[in-house]
Amino acid sequence: MMRTILIRLFLISTLSLLLSCPGGGTGTPPSDPNIGLYHNYAEIDAGLHALAAAHPDIAQISTIGKSLENRDLWAIKISDNVDQDEDEATVILLGTHHAREWIAADVPYLIAKHMIENYATDPAISTLIDNAEVWVVPMVNPDGHQYSITNNRLWRKNRRNNGDGTFGVDLNRNYGYNWGGPGSSGDSFSDTYRGPSAFSEPETQAVRDFVQREAPTALISYHNFSQLILYPWGSTYAAPPDEALLSDLARALRDKIQVVHNATYVPQQASDLYLASGDTIDWLYGVLSTVGFTIELRPRSSFPGFELPESEIQPTFEENLPAALHLIDWAIQRHSTTSS
Ligand SMILES: [Zn+2]
Repeated sequence: MMRTILIRLFLISTLSLLLSCPGGGTGTPPSDPNIGLYHNYAEIDAGLHALAAAHPDIAQISTIGKSLENRDLWAIKISDNVDQDEDEATVILLGTHHAREWIAADVPYLIAKHMIENYATDPAISTLIDNAEVWVVPMVNPDGHQYSITNNRLWRKNRRNNGDGTFGVDLNRNYGYNWGGPGSSGDSFSDTYRGPSAFSEPETQAVRDFVQREAPTALISYHNFSQLILYPWGSTYAAPPDEALLSDLARALRDKIQVVHNATYVPQQASDLYLASGDTIDWLYGVLSTVGFTIELRPRSSFPGFELPESEIQPTFEENLPAALHLIDWAIQRHSTTSS
């Protein structure tokens, strides 16, 4: 057992060393290195395009904007009459604000793929797709994600050159509600650097404009790790006006997740974890009064932390699928009672 652990630690440290020195220091890193069962940017790009091409009646791909390094921020829309903007509930799934959180790209991507590929055969899914407009953006921070593959596995921020020798803005501290508040840093070196102003980054600007355009009924932003279902507020300990609704819904999502593989995700107000200002969910709720959750995916603790083994991609997807479907169903009910 100990021997196995030692060998494993050796392999992990060797791998980290290789990853931190792309190409062994002899040349330019490959543009899209393979990361095993995890999807890199090129694979998500190709995968979304293939899904839309194979299912043009219910899936359409578009870009919501570009990253700093000019990568398209791909979105796939899943709905019947997909080329029309119908009066239906809209739900948005966002992935990978934080570069090192690879599972947070795979889960929304695999949810989109599953919904599209099972539309014809699963009546529960076809009902949701017929009555809602679901948008999935698996990778909000593709530049950082790429950098976490080629240079630094534990990179978190985007790749903004801050002009002072430091790089990166924490995209999940850059949104414009209580921007600059507690739980964000004004120090450009910090991993939670909020940027020079609210929405200073093209990635958060793109999400802002896209979310305002689509006016969703509900949204999930995927992160890892800790196995938590977080609802507003993050920037204050004060209770949100809709605390009962948010906590009930969070508990329902927890139950949907738990029944699949018996993994426990804890529902709580985001600030109960730690104060964080300028995140997606506070902006969504504070400015647009829209219900949103940050789901912190597997694992539960710091070992293995961000480096979730690829054998856990599939179960993490499987347990999060029914929770996402439940939220879409909830949004459909809510939309039908709030629109005349
Ligand atoms: Zn995160």
